[in-house]
Amino acid sequence: MQNTLFNNIIDTSCLGCGLNTKVKTPQMKPYGNFKKGILNIGEAPGEQEDATGKPFQGRAGQALQKAYAEVDIDLFEDCLNINAVNCRTMDDNGNNRTPTNQEIAHCRNRVFNCIRMHKPKIIVLLGNSAVQSVFGDRWKKNLGTITKWRGWTIPDRELNAWICPTLHPSYIIRQEDAPGVETVWLQDLERIAGLITTPFPKFENESKYVKIIPKLEIVNILNKLMGSDNIFIDIETTGLKPYNKDQHKIVCISICNSENNVYVLPAPDTDEEINALKDLLENPNVGKMAHNMKYEDTWLNVIYGISVNPWIWDSMIAAHILDNRTEISSLKFQVYVNFGVVDYDSAIEKYLHSTDDKNANSTNRVMELVANPIKRKELFTYCGLDSLFGYRLAMRQVKLIGFGDEHD
Ligand code: URA
Repeated sequence: MQNTLFNNIIDTSCLGCGLNTKVKTPQMKPYGNFKKGILNIGEAPGEQEDATGKPFQGRAGQALQKAYAEVDIDLFEDCLNINAVNCRTMDDNGNNRTPTNQEIAHCRNRVFNCIRMHKPKIIVLLGNSAVQSVFGDRWKKNLGTITKWRGWTIPDRELNAWICPTLHPSYIIRQEDAPGVETVWLQDLERIAGLITTPFPKFENESKYVKIIPKLEIVNILNKLMGSDNIFIDIETTGLKPYNKDQHKIVCISICNSENNVYVLPAPDTDEEINALKDLLENPNVGKMAHNMKYEDTWLNVIYGISVNPWIWDSMIAAHILDNRTEISSLKFQVYVNFGVVDYDSAIEKYLHSTDDKNANSTNRVMELVANPIKRKELFTYCGLDSLFGYRLAMRQVKLIGFGDEHD
C-alpha cells in the first residue's frame, strides 16, 4: 500500500494541496522508457490512470498513442510521461475534472524536478494545464491558452529543451466532427518528430553584441552606419505618445546593422547629432526596420522632424502575416518562441508603463532609470537587445515569407 502519510510529511506542496490523500495512486511517477528523449506533460491522471498507477492509459492516452505511432513515436518506449498534476482530480461525483491553477502550482516543483533530473530534449505540453504548469510562473502577463501556444517549437534556453505545446488528446476526441482539428494536431506531432534529430541550438549571451556609445561618439557611429544596407531601430521614450513636447523626449536609440552588432546611442540633442541622425534615417540607400514601425516613425518625426525613409520591414506586421492569432505579435513573445529567451526585460518593463493609463500622452518612469548609472546601462542594453532580436527576427521572417525570391 502507498504510504500517503509519509508523503504528506515530507512534501509541503502536497500538504497544501491534499489531492494525494484522496486517490489510489498519489504522486504518480513518471512512466516510459524515454528512448527518444521526449517528455510528455498531460493534464492529470484519470480513473484508469489512477487505478493502474500509469499515465495515459484511458481513451485520451490511447488516442495519443495512436497519433504518435503515425509519426513513428512509441508513447511508452520513446517518451517519458507525466502530468501537470500528479494525482487524479475528481469532482464531487467522483468524475475526472480539470485541475485548478492552485493544484497545478502545488505540483510545479515535481514537474520541474522531473525536467531537471531527466533532461528531455523535447517537452510536449498537452493542453492548457501543461501550459499553465511550465509557463505559469515564467510568463505572468497574458499567458493565454493553448490556442496561442500550440504549434510553436520553442528552443527554451533555461530548460535546454525544445518546448512544443499542442492540443490535449481529450480535446481532439471531443472535436471528432471537426476533422481539421485532428489534422492540425497531427501536423504538430509531425513537427515534434522532426525535432528528434534536430540539434538543439547553441546559444550565447547576446548582451555582448550590444555596444553602448558615449555621447562624444554619436556622430562618428551614425556616419559609419551610412554604409549599411539595412538597419533595425528601436527607441526608448518617456511615454507612449509624443504629443506633449514639453515633457516628452527620446531617451536612447539602438541601431542594429547585422545579426551580431548593435549600437545604443544616447538620444541626440545637438544640431550636429540630430543632423547626423536625420542623414542616416532619411538616406534612401539604407533600409529601415522596426517592430511596430509606426511608433518609431511618429516619435522621430514629432521630436526631431525626421521622416524615416525608406521603411522596408515591420517585424510586428510580418509576425501577424505569418500567423494571425491574437497576442502573438509582441516582440517579447516572438523573441521567446523564436530564440528561447523567456525574459530579458522584466527589470525594465515596469518603468516603461505609463503613470496614467487613461492618458496616452502621459509620462512613464524611464527617467528614474536614466538617473542611475547601473539602471541606465540595463535600459540601454535592453534597448540594444530589442533591436538585435528584432533584426534577427526580421531576417527569419524575410526567409519564411520568401520576399524577394522571384525578383532581382
Ligand atoms: N491520461 C493522463 O495521464 N493524462 C492526461 O492528461 C490524459 C490522460
